[in-house]
Amino acid sequence: MKVLVLNCGSSSVKYQFINTENKLVLSKGSIESIGSSSAILTHQRYDGDTIKITGEILDHDLAIEYVIAVLLSKNHGVIKDRSEIEAVGHRVVHGGEDFSGSVLITDTVIQTLRENIELAPLHNPPNIKGIVACLKHLPDVPMVGVFDTAFHQKMPPRAFLYGIPYLLYKRYKIRRYGFHGTSHLYVSKRAAELLGKAYDSIKIISCHLGNGCSIAAIDRGISIDTSMGFTPLEGLLMGTRCGDLDPSIPLHVMAKEDLTLAEVNTMLNKHSGLMGISGVSNDMRELIKTMNEGNERSRLAFEVFCYRIKKYFGAYIAALGGLDAIVFTGGIGENSFEVRKEVLTNLEFLGIELDDEKNLIQNGDRIISKDSSKVKVFVIPTNEELVIALETAQIVSELRKEMSNKS
Ligand code: AMP
Repeated sequence: MKVLVLNCGSSSVKYQFINTENKLVLSKGSIESIGSSSAILTHQRYDGDTIKITGEILDHDLAIEYVIAVLLSKNHGVIKDRSEIEAVGHRVVHGGEDFSGSVLITDTVIQTLRENIELAPLHNPPNIKGIVACLKHLPDVPMVGVFDTAFHQKMPPRAFLYGIPYLLYKRYKIRRYGFHGTSHLYVSKRAAELLGKAYDSIKIISCHLGNGCSIAAIDRGISIDTSMGFTPLEGLLMGTRCGDLDPSIPLHVMAKEDLTLAEVNTMLNKHSGLMGISGVSNDMRELIKTMNEGNERSRLAFEVFCYRIKKYFGAYIAALGGLDAIVFTGGIGENSFEVRKEVLTNLEFLGIELDDEKNLIQNGDRIISKDSSKVKVFVIPTNEELVIALETAQIVSELRKEMSNKS
């Protein structure tokens, strides 16, 4: 099935057009700076043909029209008629408690997404705009919503409740949701495949380490706990986000520095994490480079980053009651052998033995633990667009089957 995968942000639309039968990306691209007169469309076809166009694109509706137009383009496109787009898969950031899996988008689903805007005020509105634009430009094409939060929806209450008045959970839905769900699902399933074991028979810790970082404990196919919480601010140290924090710290800093709510929010989200501790960069490559040149603050940031991951390993191994595999993914997880080494050192007593040579190999799905390691350690590049395309194809195929059974 040919599926258009859309990821609509506040001022950008990223897309991939994927043939799910052979997993080939027929074309991919993005439109950045939507809302301005100098929006940039970048489009790349499977054969390497690339174009870049700059122009006025004032809203998501027009952006989607451009995406369809470029897919149809005589010189740079990959389809002759829009009916060749068989389905659209939308990345949706927050499904709240309403979605524990991907769903066919209907009017009711759109309404529920609108009701969940409060949970993700920055992310859900552009996701909805993308959906509404597709309804207009591709009215006969089935659409599926794939949620960042859905994979974690089976977490038990003991993992998702915070120690605050229960009333706040009931009234405002304040609880742990977790994010990066499509990534954790993809890499953990792939790890089971590489292990040659049934997904529903093994225990996995999945580490998504990119600009945003989260870790998940996956017990026989179910995410039973994860480090991101009510928002993506909780948990591991990230590029610019603080992760776990004593909740009284923001209150103390607000009083001391006379900061507003918005200012302290910006501090925790944009000026903390690797950037905040090092004062050098939020980029792990730059951090490691300066650390190796002797910058002590970069070293501190690196150590806090890795130590926190290790601490979560301990917690999640206990929560899982054992462990078969660890998976690393995301820009840092896939590329930084330094981070993987620091995180995995001295864990032999848990049956985790890193192979230093295999750890240096780059590219592709790979195993980096020793043959003797009881727990297998994998590096698996994440592919969220492919998961979205496959989920979409599955749901749309089921729909087609249902319809043909009825007729
Ligand atoms: P992502 O959000 O998944 O694109 O990941 C971005 C993060 O990956 C940034 O902190 C980058 O510095 C980091 N990253 C990318 N390539 C490398 C690399 N070769 N070594 C270390 N970190 C890397």
